[in-house]
Amino acid sequence: MPKVKTEKKSRIHNEVQKQGIVFNKDFGQHILKNPLVITTMLEKAALRATDVVLEIGPGTGNMTVRMLERAKKVIACEIDTRLAAELQKRVQATPLQPKLQVLIGDFLKADLPFFDLCIANVPYQISSPLIFKLLLHRPLFRCAVLMFQREFAQRLVAKPGDKLYCRLSINTQLLARVDMLMKVGKNNFKPPPKVESSVVRLEPKNPPPPVNFTEWDGLTRIAFLRKNKTLAATFKVNSVIEMLEKNYKLYRSLRNEQVEENFNMQEKVMSILEEQGVSGSRARSMDIDEFMRLLLAFNSAGIHFN
Ligand code: SAH
Repeated sequence: MPKVKTEKKSRIHNEVQKQGIVFNKDFGQHILKNPLVITTMLEKAALRATDVVLEIGPGTGNMTVRMLERAKKVIACEIDTRLAAELQKRVQATPLQPKLQVLIGDFLKADLPFFDLCIANVPYQISSPLIFKLLLHRPLFRCAVLMFQREFAQRLVAKPGDKLYCRLSINTQLLARVDMLMKVGKNNFKPPPKVESSVVRLEPKNPPPPVNFTEWDGLTRIAFLRKNKTLAATFKVNSVIEMLEKNYKLYRSLRNEQVEENFNMQEKVMSILEEQGVSGSRARSMDIDEFMRLLLAFNSAGIHFN
């Protein structure tokens, strides 16, 4: 009995009846209803008739249909089987049908095929892993035009010293050029979400930077844990030194090398920070080049972050 009660409550709480489709807030379902926003997104992506477009979370297909009219092919990845069926029904027996490929399931687990562009009003709850899945996918795509929650979009484009500058900013900007395109208010969606939205354009750096991204992510993860503290202070934290020590020993043993007897990770790290002139620097104001140099110096000394 209690189970039925909770289910009923969460149904009322989570779902909104609209046009015969029950939108599920757990999947972040907010349908873009303003065709002008869709047109602008397609224009900014410079969609060509020869392009294969990837869409993440097509929903009922308002954007999908517009893209099908202009692209060679649209691959749409949708987690909600009801909406996937709805979308297929929408193009059934039209000239658009053969151009549409629907991938049913979680985008984060999907095996991505080749695509030239990614254009989508994405499910906001997976924004961050979604970006890195795209940017680490090979071969690289040409560009992505994506709708995100506004604050997330602002973090994507934030520069060193900006209030919102964070690990997401630097990691994304390492791999891509990021531009803010436009603001989109809540009322352009059905049902309106609680948050404001913005559209950004991502253009992967091609060729990609000569950096092992796992190492890079490990370094920025530590540095931005306390982005207002100096790197010297951040790297004095016991758990950080212990982690680096463990990695160091592992790397050495994999290469059949002994750890020097008087080796002291704390001292080694501090001397590298000094040499690089960043022991007094704070992650909040450091740029990509500074972190690249620092990572290179650590790695050259056998210190690894993964
Ligand atoms: N693009 C549509 C709908 C956006 S709402 C429009 O603009 O009208 C977000 C969509 O993403 C919903 O259809 C939701 O079911 C889908 N979704 C949510 N999580 C997902 C995931 N992990 N993988 C793929 N699709 C997802």
